[in-house]
Amino acid sequence: MNIHADLIACHECDLLHQIVALDSGSQANCIRCGAKLYKEIRNSLDRTLSLTVTGLILFLLANFYPLLTFEMQGRSQQNNLISGVLEFFSSGFWGLGILVFLVSIIFPLIYLLGMAYVLVPLRMGHKPWKMISVFKVVDYLRPWAMIEVYMLGIIVAIVKLSDFATITPGIALFSFAGLFVVIAAANASLDPRIVWRSVDIDGEY
Ligand SMILES: [Zn+2]
Repeated sequence: MNIHADLIACHECDLLHQIVALDSGSQANCIRCGAKLYKEIRNSLDRTLSLTVTGLILFLLANFYPLLTFEMQGRSQQNNLISGVLEFFSSGFWGLGILVFLVSIIFPLIYLLGMAYVLVPLRMGHKPWKMISVFKVVDYLRPWAMIEVYMLGIIVAIVKLSDFATITPGIALFSFAGLFVVIAAANASLDPRIVWRSVDIDGEY
């Protein structure tokens, strides 16, 4: 969806519309094809910012605490997020390892840091350097931060190994599941217009 300060193009049929103020919770639709144009989200900046900060904390917990502990025949092995990725590499699945590393660790991290980079200064009333470029990267990466891919892998591993081993979930597993929810909520609460509106401050493009 392309948005200028007070114009918005329909992402389905490209018809340009003038942006008008809406009541909180209501939504503007395209007058030609009915597609959703934008929604008025109450306290979008505050909500998205607190979810982003929560996301960063969960990301740290998910990466530095144990994910799963396997116990088999008296031996116990602790895994964390990155050791799961390294397991792919040591088994020769390089492509899969790189893909999982990118979509479950690198992209979510860049997404969260990029959001914080844009939203923290906006919250304090000024515009960060290269805001539009950073926000475009964040917007582009949004569908690629797919930690559910990793979650699915964990569930498959638990189901397959539960007959042979005792599996204890760790702090990172719950943090990771929480991160999935928080990223989805941050996406839902972000009104992109809070970013585009501030472009007017000195017209970066
Ligand atoms: Zn339309």
